[in-house]
Amino acid sequence: MTLNAAPSWEFSSEQGRANYERALREYPAQAIVDLAALHDNMRHLVEVCGGAGSGTAVMGVVKADAYGHGLIPAALAALAGGATWLGTAQAREALRLRRAGIGPERCRILTWMYSGPTAPLDDLIANDIDVSVGSLDGIGAVESAARRTGRVARVHVKVDSGFGRNGFTEANFDDALAALASLAREGVVRVVGQWSHLAVADAPDVPEFVASTERQVEHFNAFTARMEAAGLPPEIRHLANTAATLDRPEIHFELTRPGIGLYGYEPDPAMGTPSKYRLRPAMTLQAQLGTVKDVSAAHGISYGRTYLTEEATSTAIVPVGYADGIHRSASGFDVEGARHMDKPGGPVRVMTADGPRLMRVSGRVCMDQFVLDLHGSAARMGVREGDTVVLFGPGRGEAACEPTADDWARAADTISYEIFTCLRNRIPRLYLHARDVLDGEDLGLLDPAALL
Ligand SMILES: *Cc1c(COP(=O)(O)O)cnc(C)c1O
Repeated sequence: MTLNAAPSWEFSSEQGRANYERALREYPAQAIVDLAALHDNMRHLVEVCGGAGSGTAVMGVVKADAYGHGLIPAALAALAGGATWLGTAQAREALRLRRAGIGPERCRILTWMYSGPTAPLDDLIANDIDVSVGSLDGIGAVESAARRTGRVARVHVKVDSGFGRNGFTEANFDDALAALASLAREGVVRVVGQWSHLAVADAPDVPEFVASTERQVEHFNAFTARMEAAGLPPEIRHLANTAATLDRPEIHFELTRPGIGLYGYEPDPAMGTPSKYRLRPAMTLQAQLGTVKDVSAAHGISYGRTYLTEEATSTAIVPVGYADGIHRSASGFDVEGARHMDKPGGPVRVMTADGPRLMRVSGRVCMDQFVLDLHGSAARMGVREGDTVVLFGPGRGEAACEPTADDWARAADTISYEIFTCLRNRIPRLYLHARDVLDGEDLGLLDPAALL
């Protein structure tokens, strides 16, 4: 009999249960993604923007394989929840969405990360995908592709309102407007949008950052005025990421671009917990324990002996490591009186005969595994090889001892975004509640073996 620290998953059918059991045989860890959570998070974000017909549309940002949640399933759940746009950084992902069968009658897609001379702009334009332009070279590349394909390229003009990354600066904007105005007159491009990105919208309590966001908004509006004066008024202006979607309704404009909120997290734990924003984390990462054994006191654990057991104890192997995207910086150090500082490792929910307990990565995270010090006798706790443990999930309240991706982010000195996007695809992604959220045609776009 094994103990299970994960919820008892609600399978939609016997096939769903069989898929789950097969996934466990294929790999000793699984990322379970609740499509109902993605759907509900998007529906909430759409409501925050005033709902359908408010004049503000919502883009589900699904870049980087939907922040590691799986591009196509997450995109379909976002659309079912009311998104009418999808956004990807890389062109390849925008093309994958269209090729999967998400056509232009269903939603607009915007993509923004490319290198002008080598980008697949012909394919993007032919597939009715909107592209960002933020450099004169980019305009030139889009122009050539539009002429080659004989179709009008739909462009969104990226302006650098203060982020200091992509987009036209105030200084080179006149040249950009002149080039775009002439191409628009000729019917080679259509200037659909104007957009920019915020640098510190996730820190509403820091006056300096609030002021800097306000300056970004002023600059953004000044760019709009210049576009209007050049005869290129943007049809759709967009600036808000998740933080501004939740906190700054005055800059929702015609479109918002939430990413992390769709996956159920707030952008920065300083803003509060997901539940404060009525968001629900969609992903649970679970694993099945490898070797469980007893070790003596003062036993070194893992590479570098950065952790010594304080007393006789049991340890358990969690069979995922940095080759799975578990951050090595989430290692746990504890060496009494030694050169290493104590540093708590990433948290793991372990089920014992007496209920759930939070254990931590002990010693260095390795390539394919890490070790937990169970701080007691595994036999007494009832912990055995094969038990299912949870690295992170929705949280389920303090008493449940369930860590979230924010807890891993703290342990690894990073942000939740990096925790999900680093998870490698050798960890199977399995989907809950697909049938509750998607209609039959959309269900047909998903890998049936991944549905629980
Ligand atoms: C990633 C990204 C977003 C979404 O940001 P979140 O903080 O995840 O909401 C929006 N716009 C651009 C340009 C992005 O790169």
